[in-house]
Amino acid sequence: MALFDEIIEQWFCENGRSLPWRETKDPYRIWISEIILQQTRVNQGYQYYLRFIERFPDVKTLASGSEEEVLHCWQGLGYYSRARNLHQAARDIVEMTGGVFPDSYEKVRALKGVGDYTAAAICSFAYDMPWAVVDGNVYRVLARVFGISTPIDSTKGRKEFVALANELLDVHHPALYNQAIMDFGALVCTPQSPRCGNCPLSGMCVAFETGDVNKLPVKQHKTKQVVRYFNYIYVRANGHTFLNKRRGNDVWRNLYELPLIETDRELSAEEVYAHPALREWIGEGVSPVFTQLLRGVKHVLSHQIIYANFYLMELPASVRLMPGFLLVPHERIQDYPVSRLVASFFEKSDLTFG
Ligand code: SF4
Repeated sequence: MALFDEIIEQWFCENGRSLPWRETKDPYRIWISEIILQQTRVNQGYQYYLRFIERFPDVKTLASGSEEEVLHCWQGLGYYSRARNLHQAARDIVEMTGGVFPDSYEKVRALKGVGDYTAAAICSFAYDMPWAVVDGNVYRVLARVFGISTPIDSTKGRKEFVALANELLDVHHPALYNQAIMDFGALVCTPQSPRCGNCPLSGMCVAFETGDVNKLPVKQHKTKQVVRYFNYIYVRANGHTFLNKRRGNDVWRNLYELPLIETDRELSAEEVYAHPALREWIGEGVSPVFTQLLRGVKHVLSHQIIYANFYLMELPASVRLMPGFLLVPHERIQDYPVSRLVASFFEKSDLTFG
């Protein structure tokens, strides 16, 4: 009987996806693709990758770009710390080597935002070094084929899976093997409805034989999701609006957004219009006109569910200042990187400025 690595490599040669970052050995491009694909599906990441590489074709160009440009290129992908880390790592590389990408596992692993998985992927894909990748796809395939029920989010589980992955690795073709097992997990041994009936590994798959396919892999902790309520105030004042740069250790740090009132429960429109934060922003004696624009927009992040309402607040032309906010002419809004939630609000609301 053929071995595990032979079966998946053969499957990959016949069925693997042709993707631009697989056609190159350039570690920079592979790094960019791996960071984009960390929390993003291939279909969505594909266009982002092409745009990013076009704008920042090498380490030096990325290092010399501004953080705002980098975030702008990333807009809509989510998990913006990935973009900030990429940018910082590019600057570190330029500072250390003048722009030459590191060529050892330890140095690649030391880059900001690069973990064990990404370092293994870069080193195997770019340099054919014998490091096995262990991502969600690999955990799933190995758990099912070898019938392993150790939780994948436990220290014991991680060690067990990494050891097995390295044991199975085809050290003569690490790039091919790693790409094969990842694609196999993404296309055949999928989380829901895996294609067991048409699977070349079914003859050796423990979970298939025992009927445990849907029970594996095991996770011990379910992700807790926090619910948040955002009330965004889209201000219209004489052809301008106001934006704010998010700070602190929270989602969307350094991205821009509309003035925001966050509350611990859903507020009615009247409660928002009477909220003290509004008075602090616009001062006494100003009488805004409010309109509710969008209500109950649900935005799901990995650990949070945000329910957002959007309001229009029209101010007299004389109001040119809201302390702490940036006054932005309508035609320049697109210059500011914003979250997908705010970007989709701009797309949905066909607003004109008076
Ligand atoms: S038989 Fe099913 S569970 Fe087993 S490896 Fe194939 S697709 Fe995955």
